[in-house]
Amino acid sequence: MQTQLFDLIKSEVRGQKAYAAETLTAPIRLDANENPLPLPSGLHDELMAALRRVQLNRYPEAGSTTLLGRFAEKYGVAGTMLMVGNGSDELIQILCNALAATHVLVPLPTFAMYRISARNNGHEVLEVPLDGDFDLDLPVMLEQIETHRPGLIFLSYPNNPTGNCFSRSKMERLLEKAPGLVVVDEAYGNFSEQSFLPLLDKYENLAILKTLSKIGLAALRIGFLIAAPPLVQELNKVRLPYNLNALSQVAAGFYLDHEGVFLEQAAEIVGRRNKLFHDLQQLPGIRPYPSAANFIFFNCLLDTDRVYENLYRQGILIKNFPNSGHLKNCMRVAVGTQRENEVFLGALERIIAK
Ligand code: PMP
Repeated sequence: MQTQLFDLIKSEVRGQKAYAAETLTAPIRLDANENPLPLPSGLHDELMAALRRVQLNRYPEAGSTTLLGRFAEKYGVAGTMLMVGNGSDELIQILCNALAATHVLVPLPTFAMYRISARNNGHEVLEVPLDGDFDLDLPVMLEQIETHRPGLIFLSYPNNPTGNCFSRSKMERLLEKAPGLVVVDEAYGNFSEQSFLPLLDKYENLAILKTLSKIGLAALRIGFLIAAPPLVQELNKVRLPYNLNALSQVAAGFYLDHEGVFLEQAAEIVGRRNKLFHDLQQLPGIRPYPSAANFIFFNCLLDTDRVYENLYRQGILIKNFPNSGHLKNCMRVAVGTQRENEVFLGALERIIAK
């Protein structure tokens, strides 16, 4: 870029790397924590028929009001507490965009978009390493709260990439002590069956994020925020009027009509996760960490770049992390179908044996 154009860009934006969404593809994709199971064919056809009825020449319903009403009923909250996003990524961006200039506090490691959105919107990011059990380091986080008064804290529950749920008592302490908003991101909540929803009445600084991406509709980008009505009212001023397209609105309604099928798949994935964890434990040099999500984080004593490339050559994509710093020797694999898990385990075993 010419120097003058480069200078037009905020220094916070220039100073960081874009989120490294995987551009490679492979026959077995276990890198993005998706649901590996397709919809049963009858249901898939039904969804496609509903999508065909969408009038593509018309704007979608602004603010997705009908959908919000249905989800409000499902979660047992007022419609004024809900907001829909083009994936929960967009809601993270909206939160960071609306927030007055401040500090944003996150544990480390966690989902990269918290940091990226916070920096793009000019906030200082405070990162507090997790403790040896991947739980929150409460004393250090409380110290940071005391010193910097962060306006926003993001807690992924379960945490991506480590897969565990932080201890609830520590999270509640943060909710009590935080001067600002505490966002509990329940992207993987369908696999942990734990939620902070019942605590919305207790803490008015609690906001919850949800998504349909991990349960089976990643392509459609449907996320939700649930928080106190005055906050939602302000965030709506930042949201673009038609942020959820009409096809996604229809698909989200379809999800509600058939939620049981999606939840059965989630239960199947949880069963497979437990088996995959057990199988990984048997491999020398591999140390998987217990997971409450649809993926497993593991320590690998071999050169992780070599493992990643070798798996990729065999048609298997998993998540690799920089082979230095706090994620050295770490990898993450999503739970696949039974066959995908077996192929992955067999390939990993052969790489270890070499
Ligand atoms: N939160 C966490 C913790 C995630 O891991 C992800 C996806 N990787 C998201 C949010 C974003 O999900 P969505 O597809 O709804 O934007």
